Amino acid sequence: MSPVSASVSWRAPLNPSIQYPEGISFLCLRCGLCCKDSFYKPRLILVLRSEVQRISERTGLKPDDFAEDSGKQIYEYILKKREDGSCIFLRKNICSIYDLRPLVCRFFPFYLKQVGSQDYLFSFTKECPGLGRGKPLTGKFFRHLFTYALKELNHGS
Ligand code: SF4
Ligand code: SF4
Repeated sequence: MSPVSASVSWRAPLNPSIQYPEGISFLCLRCGLCCKDSFYKPRLILVLRSEVQRISERTGLKPDDFAEDSGKQIYEYILKKREDGSCIFLRKNICSIYDLRPLVCRFFPFYLKQVGSQDYLFSFTKECPGLGRGKPLTGKFFRHLFTYALKELNHGS
């Protein structure tokens, strides 16, 4: 699943309306579940071309060392995984490129869909054990994610 649906018009909307799950709480438990294949399904870690370039520049790795073509538009790459199904950047259950982690990782367990010309809806996947933990998230959290996604998606154009 991509963090922002490929059908989203990602040119900056003039007056967006953002809906999100009211009162939902979330605290990342750093369990690493979203960084590897699960028993039920493989994990596709989709990334933008600009994210691959940034990771390459900052780590000194060649893109081929850590990413491969996804065959998709917008999210043109997927991060490589190890034989055990874990992301190549996961070390001892911790992300080794945390400050550079791609949009899909920053969004999890949430994702964004466009439901009208200026209307956007955040949903979530229930597989994250961090949901229901911590303090309820506010609109500020979702607005920040939204703004960050638009910036990244436009940068990647
Ligand atoms: S699955 Fe949820 S709690 Fe676990 S590392 Fe990912 S975001 Fe954090
Ligand atoms: S880049 Fe980091 S946060 Fe994203 S899947 Fe890999 S290890 Fe997890």
